[in-house]
Amino acid sequence: MKKWQAGNKTLGTVFLIGSGPGDPGLMTVKGMQKIRTADVIVYDYLAGNQFIQEARADAELIYVGKKGASHTLEQDDINSLLIRKAKEGKNIVRLKGGDPYVFGRGGEEAEELHLAGVPFEVVPGVTSAVAAPAYAGIPVTHRDHASMVTFITGHEDPAKEESAIDWEIIAKNPGTLIFLMGVKNLPNISDLLIKHGKPGDTPAALVRWGTTPQQVSLFSTLSEIPKAAKEKGIKAPAILVVGSVAGLHENLGWFERKPLFGKRILVTRGREQSKKMADQLAEQGGEPILFPTIQIGPPSDYKPLDKAIKDSPGYDWIIFTSVNGVERFFDRFFQIKADIRELGSARIGAIGPVTSAAIKNFGLQVDLLAQEFTAEGVLDQLDVDNIRGKYFLIPRAESAREILPIELMKHGAVVNVVPVYKTSMPENAHVREVSDLLSSRGIDVITFTSSSTVSHFVELLKDYDLNELLKGVTLASIGPITSQTMQKRGLRIDVEAKEYTIDGLMEAIVAYYSK
Ligand code: SAH
Repeated sequence: MKKWQAGNKTLGTVFLIGSGPGDPGLMTVKGMQKIRTADVIVYDYLAGNQFIQEARADAELIYVGKKGASHTLEQDDINSLLIRKAKEGKNIVRLKGGDPYVFGRGGEEAEELHLAGVPFEVVPGVTSAVAAPAYAGIPVTHRDHASMVTFITGHEDPAKEESAIDWEIIAKNPGTLIFLMGVKNLPNISDLLIKHGKPGDTPAALVRWGTTPQQVSLFSTLSEIPKAAKEKGIKAPAILVVGSVAGLHENLGWFERKPLFGKRILVTRGREQSKKMADQLAEQGGEPILFPTIQIGPPSDYKPLDKAIKDSPGYDWIIFTSVNGVERFFDRFFQIKADIRELGSARIGAIGPVTSAAIKNFGLQVDLLAQEFTAEGVLDQLDVDNIRGKYFLIPRAESAREILPIELMKHGAVVNVVPVYKTSMPENAHVREVSDLLSSRGIDVITFTSSSTVSHFVELLKDYDLNELLKGVTLASIGPITSQTMQKRGLRIDVEAKEYTIDGLMEAIVAYYSK
């Protein structure tokens, strides 16, 4: 970001950014770009933590969270903080939930900045006032139902003599009424609207934590909703919608109907490999919780790999068994050699379609694809009578299953297995948090995508009573070999993928919950 010249002083700019209502996908591209480059980020309770992770490693992160009445920093202090940091020449992101100018006091902060001569910009966000209803199946306007929509603060002290809200006018308003911050005051809002003439049977809805996997919605009528909300235990933050559009959810509800909606799913694979799976789970309405049980690092010794790379033109076959194996092999390859042609003319084999795709990324064709997704599948594909005396290179994890090299050697092949990476247990796994979540029944599904995820998971939680912790949790396995390890470790198998890939596992979990 550019520094802004004011007189002889260099001032930073304050970017007032709306983070959207909760679903990270609703953050704007522009907002994200500012977060990635900011020197300082000042953020609130409702402005998702997920964005903070995208900040520069050296960015200063300041939480000024406002949760109900307990403010971490008073508004005046927030204003002076922004001004002080800007005067230090820092570019600042002021991150707020939803839209910064919809009941976020963004307008007041901007006025203070203006008075102090600090330049600012606004990056609007998707307001919860519109997004939470949309995710609950409520369009805030509709040609047959409402030609206007009004955003109202529900926060007002009902004992206040001079109300800023003219309930007379609000009650007569034929459009959709949307109250923010209204949960505590719900009985008063309902009473005042009815007292001023709004029919008690007007459809009304509450949407709590809209657009997130924790979304809860409640559909009722204006007169009944205070009681219904109490029964259902609905608390802040929630949006109250009053108007006939609140009755359209039967046909328009979609989010809460996703197959994995509200399911909290533990992803145990390595952090680098978790993203795709986490995205797919979220896409199906689930909430992925990352608990990497595997850490991938360099092999104990690079010498065997380096020698194999130097000798690579001498091999007849190179067989890759995993995406990690492919990526780590070529990383090292290009540190030693400058040109892919120095690999030689060995034929290339892959176990599983994902491994094959990783090889093709390097511009290489795959001559043999084991569809069986297991080492055994490779042997089925090879012409076993024709491998006697052939040189095979297998770059793979240190201490992996021996079956493939042994079988190849049985058929007379000369096999060189070289470790290209080593998997280990992560040092700072969040064991305590996960065991707490499990014991409070806060996890619905645990996914295991390899034997090592199983053994590492059991090992990491060895101080806990696993039988007790896993009661009622659905345990999902990517395939038979992983399932075998689960069995050996005394774990049940509730779901097993038919196709031994992440897609296959996703399909099996979705099918399990669609039953
Ligand atoms: N600037 C924010 C609103 C801040 S006021 C926006 O544009 O969304 C805080 C109120 O916003 C909460 O009391 C609640 O009424 C509403 N709110 C914020 N996020 C919400 C969410 N995910 N679901 C439902 N209501 C939400």
